Amino acid sequence: MQIPDRAGVIVGYRVWRVIPGKWVDLSQSLSAQRWFQTWSLMEATVAHCPPHLQGDPSKPLLRRNHPHEAAPSFGCTCGLYARYEPIQEVHPLPYVVGSVLAWGRVVHHMDHSFFRAEKALPVAFVRPHRGGGVFPHLAEDKFFRIADLLGAEVVENPGELRTYSEVEVNKW
Ligand SMILES: [Zn+2]
Repeated sequence: MQIPDRAGVIVGYRVWRVIPGKWVDLSQSLSAQRWFQTWSLMEATVAHCPPHLQGDPSKPLLRRNHPHEAAPSFGCTCGLYARYEPIQEVHPLPYVVGSVLAWGRVVHHMDHSFFRAEKALPVAFVRPHRGGGVFPHLAEDKFFRIADLLGAEVVENPGELRTYSEVEVNKW
């Protein structure tokens, strides 16, 4: 694999969670998959290091690191996570699979196939599958409004996602 240039813009792939429903504002409706971290729909999302995350990602039980200014940091779990390769698994709504352009500080975890970036902007999503979960229609409605606001492309499968995203990153 080609190691991306740290100073440049790179492509990453990840999963988000769409927060369905009218009671959550659209701007707060694209979230990280596993914890509540809102992604911006108007500009790049910028990583912060919440104090509870500080620690070595591979050794979560070791003592916390000293707080640090810039995220992501080595020896910490902070940053905007993305994988080097498109996510092949189907994630039914409220989850959506997509791609980001990422830049700024980037910490590479080549052995685990992901990186953590300082800034990232979603550029495309794989058209989501309706799940059997709660509020699938509301999540789907939210999803298309999110993609619209971001100006993100909606593609049909992980292969198209890669093709589209690699064209996008080469425009930078
Ligand atoms: Zn941190």
